Amino acid sequence: MAGLERLLAWLASLSRVYAQARDELTSLDAAIGDADHGSNMARGFAAVAAELEANPPADVAAALKAAAMTLMRTVGGAAGPLYGTFFLRASAACAGLAELGPAEWLAAFRQGVEGVRQRGKAGPGDKTMLDALLPAVQGMQDALAQGQGLPEMLRRAEQAARKGMEATIPLQARKGRASYLGERSIGHQDPGATSAHLLVQAAAAAFA
Ligand code: ADP
Ligand code: MG
Repeated sequence: MAGLERLLAWLASLSRVYAQARDELTSLDAAIGDADHGSNMARGFAAVAAELEANPPADVAAALKAAAMTLMRTVGGAAGPLYGTFFLRASAACAGLAELGPAEWLAAFRQGVEGVRQRGKAGPGDKTMLDALLPAVQGMQDALAQGQGLPEMLRRAEQAARKGMEATIPLQARKGRASYLGERSIGHQDPGATSAHLLVQAAAAAFA
């Protein structure tokens, strides 16, 4: 089980994770986009960490909602509204919960990913963040079906997200800015799938 403290530790860790990954995400986005994904993510999650510290949320749902609102306010481009939607939907799934067990985590994550899918109208294989997020959901679901706890569930999710991220390399982008490149988007790893993998990797570390 994981309570508010752990969740806050995860969200705060994302500020460090994306600061560190800033250059990598920028160069991935330079190849098939407009080179702003690194600064978008670093700026957004630095703002999330600052917001959570300035206004400590009362519970899990409030923490996720504050993250969502801050991302929507501070991150332009495609990723801000999409990650904002992810956290907003996850927050709604956590309403009234004091602790997150594996089933609650899966439900929240699944709802978040469903929100990204609806908002961005992308599907599997379109070379977007969903290509890391959807396998992560599947990995969590498989682990839960086998009766695994939260740490193992997130470890599996991280592995699945990594595979999904790597599998974006040979894909042609069908959504977002990279789709303007047509076949020239082939051969590059998707920046959003990379940042989505980092999100899951940081969760696996925070809830280990
Ligand atoms: P922008 O493309 O507006 O510059 P970012 O560079 O921050 O925004 O984010 C780009 C990432 O957003 C892409 O690598 C892709 O993973 C993701 N993305 C773009 N459009 C969509 C969409 N419709 N659905 C899901 N993810 C998307
Ligand atoms: Mg961009």
